[in-house]
Amino acid sequence: MKHDTKIVSAGRNKQWTGGGVNPPVQRASTIIFDSVAEMKHAIANRADKTLFYGRRGTTTSFAFSEAISEIEGGAGCALYPCGTAAITSAMLSFLKAGDHVLMVDTAYEPTRDFCNKILTNLGITTTYYDPMIGEGIRELIQANTRILFLESPGSNTMEVQDVPTLASIAHESDIVVILDNTWGAGVLFKPFDFGVDISVQAATKYIVGHSDAMIGTAVANDKYWPQLREHSYLLGQCVSPDDAYLALRGLRTLSVRLKQHQESALKVALWLSEQPEVDKILHPAFNDCPGHQFFNRDFSGSNGLFSLVLNRGDEQAITSLLDGMSHFKMGFSWGGFESLILQVNGLDRLRTATTWQAAGPVIRLHIGLEDVDDLIADLRAGLDRLNLALLK
Ligand SMILES: *Cc1c(COP(=O)(O)O)cnc(C)c1O
Repeated sequence: MKHDTKIVSAGRNKQWTGGGVNPPVQRASTIIFDSVAEMKHAIANRADKTLFYGRRGTTTSFAFSEAISEIEGGAGCALYPCGTAAITSAMLSFLKAGDHVLMVDTAYEPTRDFCNKILTNLGITTTYYDPMIGEGIRELIQANTRILFLESPGSNTMEVQDVPTLASIAHESDIVVILDNTWGAGVLFKPFDFGVDISVQAATKYIVGHSDAMIGTAVANDKYWPQLREHSYLLGQCVSPDDAYLALRGLRTLSVRLKQHQESALKVALWLSEQPEVDKILHPAFNDCPGHQFFNRDFSGSNGLFSLVLNRGDEQAITSLLDGMSHFKMGFSWGGFESLILQVNGLDRLRTATTWQAAGPVIRLHIGLEDVDDLIADLRAGLDRLNLALLK
């Protein structure tokens, strides 16, 4: 089956849909059993998409988790109320006191904070590594290293990792390889073809796709699925059927949306790269992006999210650029149909294995589904405001 067909059909099992195109939203805590035999059957099969108790899921969440694990190609998919819960629970499912984590230096900020503020209290140490470390990862592996965590491309600065090399070195020491695959959206990068053991996503972003729900997913291979499933369950992780429904609804149009996000973002990025105010574009499809060769080798395309470095700009000038935008809205998250803009702050503090150096401020853009000419005009006017403010 081709990929676009899978996006449309995955998880659309009559058992969940009841014959409709989409599954009903099944809201339940208690599930009623008609007999002791039925209850015993539910207990025996509760880990395997059998109605048992709301926390184990209902037909709506079964349909969504089945769809995501089919699309990413793993043994099963655990669901969480947001992407951050998916990251922390996937990690906690495999860690114990005394363990060591190798964490990519360009990780999503809350992932770093979780290591620094929560794992340290549990007696678990973290070493941050350069996303471009490649074979050098071998020297950072300790006898107690349990997890190698990757995020590719890296948050805000977009370095693309050599996932297969890193994963195969980690596997020599039986280390669990976890990837934050949110940028790839389960479509642009196929984690299990490159040696990843557990692929985590903030489905909040492109899968939901409409900025109206939060949900996290973690798909594991055969080796790690039983423990990921049971330990996430013991951590109390479950999702609302309404959110699972919205995520499933968003999923069906993921392929066509991504194609448009990709096309518009590349147009905007190319245009920006020619503007005198712009020093550099941080986008995996650009030649000078660290790891661009791995992007070409391993990814099937790009999406709407990238950053740019301005040549210069003080706080007042950036404020005047941002405050006057009309199509680009200011706000966190990305992956919805709308364009977003924000200044990326604190990169000096958020990189410890590497050092962040840039000509000027960094702006992150999410290119939505608006007409690209309107977006470019909005950005040009913003750069004009920047220039004017710098003259003052
Ligand atoms: C947004 C994001 C998350 C967290 O997802 P939430 O659903 O907001 O908790 C994790 N990783 C990456 C790369 C993200 O962009």
